[in-house]
Amino acid sequence: MPNISFFPPSLPNETFNSRIARYQLIAGNRSVATTFKELFQHNNFSLAQIVPPHLDVLAAQLPGDPNATLNNFLAQNTLLPLFRPFLGTREPGDGQSICLNRLPRHVVGKHGDAYMCVQCMAEAEHQFGFGYWQRSHQAPGVTTCWKHGVLLLKSCPVCQLPFQRRLQLLEFPWKPCPQCKHKFDSATPPQTATKVAVAYARFVHDLLHAELQPIAPDLLAKIYRQRIQKIGFVWGQKNSGEKLVNTGKRLQSTSMTAFTEDLIEKLGHDFIAQVDPAFAAGRTTFWLRFSIVGGVMDMPLQRHILLIMRLFDSVIHFKQKIVSTCLDSWDHVPTRSWPLFKARNVLRTLFQSDLSPTIQ
Ligand SMILES: [Zn+2]
Ligand SMILES: [Zn+2]
Repeated sequence: MPNISFFPPSLPNETFNSRIARYQLIAGNRSVATTFKELFQHNNFSLAQIVPPHLDVLAAQLPGDPNATLNNFLAQNTLLPLFRPFLGTREPGDGQSICLNRLPRHVVGKHGDAYMCVQCMAEAEHQFGFGYWQRSHQAPGVTTCWKHGVLLLKSCPVCQLPFQRRLQLLEFPWKPCPQCKHKFDSATPPQTATKVAVAYARFVHDLLHAELQPIAPDLLAKIYRQRIQKIGFVWGQKNSGEKLVNTGKRLQSTSMTAFTEDLIEKLGHDFIAQVDPAFAAGRTTFWLRFSIVGGVMDMPLQRHILLIMRLFDSVIHFKQKIVSTCLDSWDHVPTRSWPLFKARNVLRTLFQSDLSPTIQ
C-alpha cells in the first residue's frame, strides 16, 4: 500500500540525492532522520553513491507499480546508465541485480562529495523557480560542467564547507550555508576549465543519456582493438598515417604500448592523472587491458571513457560502431556460434531505433 502521497517529480538529469533533499524541504520534516525513516524505513545513510541502497523500499511506498518506479529511479536519477554498458552482459532472468552487484562500491576521489555548476543552478532557477543537482556533474573524473565549460564547485565558495556533509541532506542552494550564511548567488565568478576536461565531461554526459544496455565484454574488446588498429597502432608498425595492409602472413596484432603512449600524449599526463587515481599513483603496468574477469572487462569506468574519447569523435559514433561490428560478425561466422548467438541477443536490446551503421 502506498504510504507517501507526494514525492517531487524528477527534473532533467537530477540526482536521487537532490530529489530526497527537495522532499525534505517540501515535507517540512524537523530532522533528516525523520525523512529517512519515512522514505526508507532506515537510519540515515549516504545518498552520494552510484546507486544508493533501499530505493526499492521507497518505490514500494509510492503510488504505481513498484518495479516501474524503481526502474525510473535507476534510469533517471542514478549513474547506473553510465556504468551499465561496461558491466558485462545481462543473461535472461538476471534482472537488474547482476548489474548492481558489479558496480564498484566506491568511486575513488568522488565518493561523498556533491558537485554543482553555478550557471546550471542559475538556469534552473530561471526555468523552474529553484536550482537542483545534476547527475552528469557527479560522474567519476568529471570536474567541469559539460554545458558551460566551467569548473564545478563542491563546497561553499566563501567558507569552503562541503555541500555534502556526512549523513546529511543537501541544503544548498535552497538554504544559506549553515556555517557562514552565504546565500546562493549566480554572480559567483566561474573558473574556466581546460578543453580536454570539458570534452571528457561532454562524453560522460552523452554516454549517460545514450541509453546503452550492457555490451558483451568480448565484443567491446574487439571494437577497441579494431579501432586502435584502424588508426595505425599495429604491432611492429609505427603509426605512419598510411593505409595498413594485412600481408596475410599473420593476423595483425594491436600495439598497445605505442597506443597507450599516444593516448597519454594526446590527452595529457596531468589530465589523465586527474581523472584516474591509479594512474596518478603510478600504477601504469597493464594500465589499458582488455582481459575479462568475472564477466566484466577489468578496467574502471574512467579508462573506458578516455579510450572512447581517443578512438571515437562522439558517443553516437561509438554506438554506431557497436552496431556495425555486430553486423560484420554475422556475415563471417557460423550461424550457430555461441558468442555470436549471445551478441545477437545483446544487439536486440542494445539500441533504440535511431541508428544507421555508417562508421567504419
Ligand atoms: Zn553548467
Ligand atoms: Zn559557507
